Amino acid sequence: MSFVEPFADELLSSWLARVRCDQRAPGEPLLRAYRNRAGHWRHPDVNPKKSMIAELAASEGFTENSVAELGLCYRYPRITPDFVAWHHVPSDDPSRDFAPALTLRLSWCSRCLAEDYAAGRPAYIRADWAMAAWGFCFRHHWPLVDRCVSCGSSHWAIKRSSQGPPRLCCIRCRRGLERAHPRALELEPAAQPIWINIVAFEAALRGALRGKVPDQFRFNDTSAGQLLEESARICLLFARAHRRWRLRDRLLHRFAAPVLTLDNVCPNEPSCEMPLALASPSMRRCLIAICAAMLDADCDPTVRNEDEPVVDVWARMVDSIALQQFIQDRQACSPTLKRTVEAACHRNEKVERMSALRSASTAYKTLFRDTAGNAFSSRH
Ligand SMILES: [Zn+2]
Ligand SMILES: [Zn+2]
Repeated sequence: MSFVEPFADELLSSWLARVRCDQRAPGEPLLRAYRNRAGHWRHPDVNPKKSMIAELAASEGFTENSVAELGLCYRYPRITPDFVAWHHVPSDDPSRDFAPALTLRLSWCSRCLAEDYAAGRPAYIRADWAMAAWGFCFRHHWPLVDRCVSCGSSHWAIKRSSQGPPRLCCIRCRRGLERAHPRALELEPAAQPIWINIVAFEAALRGALRGKVPDQFRFNDTSAGQLLEESARICLLFARAHRRWRLRDRLLHRFAAPVLTLDNVCPNEPSCEMPLALASPSMRRCLIAICAAMLDADCDPTVRNEDEPVVDVWARMVDSIALQQFIQDRQACSPTLKRTVEAACHRNEKVERMSALRSASTAYKTLFRDTAGNAFSSRH
């Protein structure tokens, strides 16, 4: 088998690394991010430049189309930076070019790597491992990870070996990354129904990124663009609900269990700018589970059950002006989600009125008891 033929699901830079038998320093990107004419940052794995495609096609003897097909924008025509996994997204301001460059935050599926190894194939990076719209591998329904399960390092490289095909190895402990996460193995029997539920929602996002209309039984009256925008906005409004941090923690706590995070540590604070894109795979799974609970009629990804619907807690904690702007925006919000959110706001108002009434009644009773007590003591 030729080692330079790109795999159908391979990331552009992964193929290039194999082509050039990359000997560079670990962590140094083979393809560098660039600014487009409008001054916005772009990454060649997502939006390869036409000149780069032509140059690669000519030097490697492929057609331009077969090289262009490796770019994420070709696989997912509706891709936006919100659905790509980044380590860091620099400002578009040219005066701040000293900041670290735009780099992809790659994760991997240990089962895909184990299959590569067992089949004698060189290990390669799947294009889907650079996406933030999912936290599981579609083929194996298995949680993606971005750290070595032996030592916790996030630095890896493809290592060539004389005994077998190249493998993805940890730079710190040198072990192969095809080793499954021990916690995932332990949790798998109980967690699988939840994982499958979330994978089904992620498949709908994947379809929408390709421009496919979502299944109307599950996502009634929702277009592909709306499903994507709704997911991005649910995460964004959730991340920005600083002032109601208690409610936000309560909602996150429902999902941030080892079944989704794979360990007992709660994921870090989500980014207020690009919560999904900058999240770790653990946080990403929690955020996607929140979206699935609110948007997918067939999905119940709740890890810890509570009576109150997820949408009620979400609608109570997010900024009310931003919430109204979102649900009035026909491009971003489907009529179905608008109705669901309005019903949640209505239930929240009712609960608030009841609790105000209860505290007024308690205050009244206390006042009455005190007055009666004072009258009694003044008579004696
Ligand atoms: Zn896999
Ligand atoms: Zn390691």
